[in-house]
Amino acid sequence: MKVYIIGAGPGDPGLCTVRAAELIARCPVVLYTGSLVPKEIIARARADARVLDSSGMTLDEIIAVMTDAHGADQDVARVHTGDPSIFGSTAEQMRRLESLGIAFEIVPGVSSFSAAAAAIGKELTLPELAQTVILTRAEGRTPMPAGEKLADLGRHGTTLALFLSITLLDEIREALVPSYGEDCPVVVVHRASWPDQKVVTGTLADIKGKVKAAGIRSQAMIFVGPALTSTDFANSRLYDPAFSHRFRKARSPTRGSEKATP
Ligand code: SAH
Repeated sequence: MKVYIIGAGPGDPGLCTVRAAELIARCPVVLYTGSLVPKEIIARARADARVLDSSGMTLDEIIAVMTDAHGADQDVARVHTGDPSIFGSTAEQMRRLESLGIAFEIVPGVSSFSAAAAAIGKELTLPELAQTVILTRAEGRTPMPAGEKLADLGRHGTTLALFLSITLLDEIREALVPSYGEDCPVVVVHRASWPDQKVVTGTLADIKGKVKAAGIRSQAMIFVGPALTSTDFANSRLYDPAFSHRFRKARSPTRGSEKATP
């Protein structure tokens, strides 16, 4: 018996991995995280499976379902949205499972930040402009650790992907304007990859009004940073004819000995 901690992807059932879909179709117990996991994915469960929505449960109740399944030697598909490694509350479940001696395995998924970048047709890293993506959140009821305040992270000036923060746009503006400026591009993607996906583009100064006008109050990814609108960024070295790398020799001898960094 095993508990499979599964990332079901951002919404579109086509973005659920083959392995995730196979496990959901095979496990006799399916425990999923409410409205962010699409019905089509959960509908793949066996007709005789015990299918439970965990959104109204406590950690103890979730662990009780897993312990019962362990007693009955039944595999559990524990289905999370996006990828389980990011803001999934999966660590606390795995800690309990470990102490109970219940085996588990993680199945990665497509995170909502990837789906949101796809939705807006952007690359989040651009040569010489943004070579780091910070996956974080604004401080709400969950306090941020010292050193991870948004204003501190903003000093890097790179691309930010903010989860769980759509109700905190005033705080985001206040924290980030000193580093990025009022005109810094912001893109909000609501329900990336779902049929009712919405994209709102603006700046740190005006995004709040636009998001309000669009009626977005939850399930949104917020991207901040100059990479979102830049068009005059440098080309990468990967396809630069003057650079050699493992798979291609430089066509011009000038910088042939340098290594490309993709
Ligand atoms: N583990 C998930 C994140 C769970 S936290 C992942 O990897 O995506 C929930 C937050 O994720 C939401 O508040 C929102 O910020 C973001 N989110 C989840 N699904 C989303 C989607 N389809 N579109 C936009 N944001 C989404």
